[in-house]
Amino acid sequence: MQKIKIGSHVKMAGKEMFLGSVKEAESYGASVLMLYTGAPQNTVRKEIKDLNIEAGWEYAGKAGIEEIVVHAPYIINLGNTTKPETFELGVTFLEKEIKRTAAMRSKILILHPGAHVGAGEEAGLAQIIKGLNLVLDENEDDVFIALETMAGKGSELGKTFEELRKIYDGVHKKDRLRVCFDTCHVNDAGYHLVEDYEEVLRQFDEVIGLNQIAVIHINDSMNPCGAHKDRHANIGKGYIGTDILKQTVHDERFSQIPKILETPWICEEGSKEKKIAPYKEEIAALLNKGDSYGNET
Ligand code: FE
Ligand code: FE
Ligand code: ZN
Repeated sequence: MQKIKIGSHVKMAGKEMFLGSVKEAESYGASVLMLYTGAPQNTVRKEIKDLNIEAGWEYAGKAGIEEIVVHAPYIINLGNTTKPETFELGVTFLEKEIKRTAAMRSKILILHPGAHVGAGEEAGLAQIIKGLNLVLDENEDDVFIALETMAGKGSELGKTFEELRKIYDGVHKKDRLRVCFDTCHVNDAGYHLVEDYEEVLRQFDEVIGLNQIAVIHINDSMNPCGAHKDRHANIGKGYIGTDILKQTVHDERFSQIPKILETPWICEEGSKEKKIAPYKEEIAALLNKGDSYGNET
C-alpha cells in the first residue's frame, strides 16, 4: 500500500531554518510539510544561502520526508488595480519566491490568487492574469503555481471553480498552473462538501479537472457552508467533521497528492495562549482508517 502523504505547515525560523522545519514535521509523524519562506504577513526574507537547505534535506532523508510545498505570503495581491505599488510588489516578490521555492527543491508554490479590493471581479481577475503572465512568461523554473481555492472573504477571488478557470484561461503558460484545494475554504465558499463530497469533486472535475489538484489543505471550518469567513477549526471540531476530512485524506484519486493541515494551535488548560501544536494527534486520527466511531469503512 502507498504511504499517504500527509503533514502540516511548519515554521522556518531561528538558526536551523529548514533543518528545524524538517525536525518539527518529523515530530508530528508527517511525511510532507509546508512552509513559508519567512513570515506570511511580510516580505522580509533571508538569503537562500541562509535557509540551511542542504542540512534540512539530509535530515529529511532519514526522517522519511520526501516532499515539501511552499506557501507564498498573503501580502502578494496580484488582483489589485487601485494601487500600482501593491501589484508591482506582488509581481516582483512572486518572481523571487519562485526562485526560493526551486532552491528549496519544491515543485509547488501555493498562491492566494488575489482580491479585487472594490474594483470588481472582472477587473480583479484580469489583473491576476496580467500578473501571472508577467511572472511566468519570463520564468523557466520547474515550479508550479498552485492557485488556492478561497473562502470568498472580503473581495477575495478564486472563491468559485469558475473564477479559477477564468485565470487558467487567461494565463499563457497554463501548464505551470495547478490548484491547492482547501477544504475549509471550499466549505466557506458555499460548496456542499459535507452533504455531497462527490458532487463537489464532480463539479471541480468538470470546470478545472481533478488532475490539476496538486495540494490539499485539510482543515475543518468554524463556520457553516457558504459563510465566506475563512476561520480554520481543528479536525472534528467544526462544521465539516472528521468523516469527510478522513474520506478526503484516504481518497485513492489523491494518493499522490500532499495533504497539509493548517488547523489552529491549541491552548493549555486554563491558558489563552495557543502553545500546543495539534498536528501529531490530528495526523494520527486522520490516518486511522474507518469513521469517527472506529468502524472500518
Ligand atoms: Fe492559503
Ligand atoms: Fe489553505
Ligand atoms: Zn484559510
